Amino acid sequence: VATAAMMVGLGACSSTRGGSSNSSSGIEKGAVIGVSMPTKSEERWNKDGNNLKAKLEKAGYKVNLSFADDKPAQQNADIENMVNNNAKVIVVAAKDGTAVGPAVEKAKEAGAKVIAYDRLIMNTKAVDYYVTFQLEKVGELEAKYIIDQLGLEKGATGPFNIELFTGSPDDNNAKYFFKGAWDLLKPYFEKGVLVSPSNHGGGVNAQSTVDNTWQKISVQGWKTAQAQTDMESILDSTYAHGEKLDAVLSPYDGITQGIINAIQQKRPDMKPGTDSWPVMTGQDAMEIAIANISKGLQGETVFKDVNELADAVYNMVVEIAEGKEVSGINGKFNNGVIDVPSKLLEPVSITKDNLSDLVKAGYVTQERFDQLT
Ligand code: BGC
Repeated sequence: VATAAMMVGLGACSSTRGGSSNSSSGIEKGAVIGVSMPTKSEERWNKDGNNLKAKLEKAGYKVNLSFADDKPAQQNADIENMVNNNAKVIVVAAKDGTAVGPAVEKAKEAGAKVIAYDRLIMNTKAVDYYVTFQLEKVGELEAKYIIDQLGLEKGATGPFNIELFTGSPDDNNAKYFFKGAWDLLKPYFEKGVLVSPSNHGGGVNAQSTVDNTWQKISVQGWKTAQAQTDMESILDSTYAHGEKLDAVLSPYDGITQGIINAIQQKRPDMKPGTDSWPVMTGQDAMEIAIANISKGLQGETVFKDVNELADAVYNMVVEIAEGKEVSGINGKFNNGVIDVPSKLLEPVSITKDNLSDLVKAGYVTQERFDQLT
């Protein structure tokens, strides 16, 4: 399938050094660096954009930071604007990994380096590097939490009712998040220990990460409201008469929030902190998730430290600017056309037990944490 990236191994550094990394690019201090974020409406991208801007400005670069309001056309216009401002490096967290192709091609033609930030840019040669967190690991951490909470490794036989959600189909990450989770959950489905009785979206199957049926249980645009609507219909169709819902696999805190809203609306008999409340996952350690985890509404989130990501991109920009070889490349992702040299960081599972690690990491201030929890 042309639109889906295949991961071609997260192998040793030596095999993945890109050929384009040695250019003497002549980027000077004071040069413009473009940073194109997908939206302001999701918490993390605000943090991502502002962090990176602050770091680059401190080092003496001019930063053209934009947020595309969830609109691919807007993002392309933002990037063209950066090209017109003579940006030397353009960092892009794509709203739509494929739709952004023509804009980064213009950037390359104008001589800029293009770094895909967190989300891969698909089906174009015009991407030099990719910096993200180990994508499948995110899903693995979510699945492990569910497996642990349901006692599956200890031999619990259930059957347990679990409903599955995946991220936005226009985001290449979504498939990998699901693949990581599904590879661990699938054996329990095969044994009948886990079941998804709603069969929503037609259900998933053993091939779902290959034949793209995962998209049938996806949440377009990662939107909370859509997740809520979908969960409400799952509850109406399958859990309207007191049926037990044991777990929900959610790939993102905003989706989890929609699921929580639906449960609170449709099944007030389910009580957080008791066995009646489902085990639920998420991603991003959003403020709402910090609050939800402390109240027992959500069990786990996957924390991706945007400071680390900003540092990794910052170092890359500086190396490119100084004409040095880019360091720390530890994998590659195929975007449908080329293998993109990638820097992959480590995501971390956060539950009530280590929630305060988010303060230690400087992700949230103690004061804000205290307000949220
Ligand atoms: C990011 C996640 C985020 C999701 C929704 C993904 O591409 O990797 O961190 O939760 O988009 O914004």
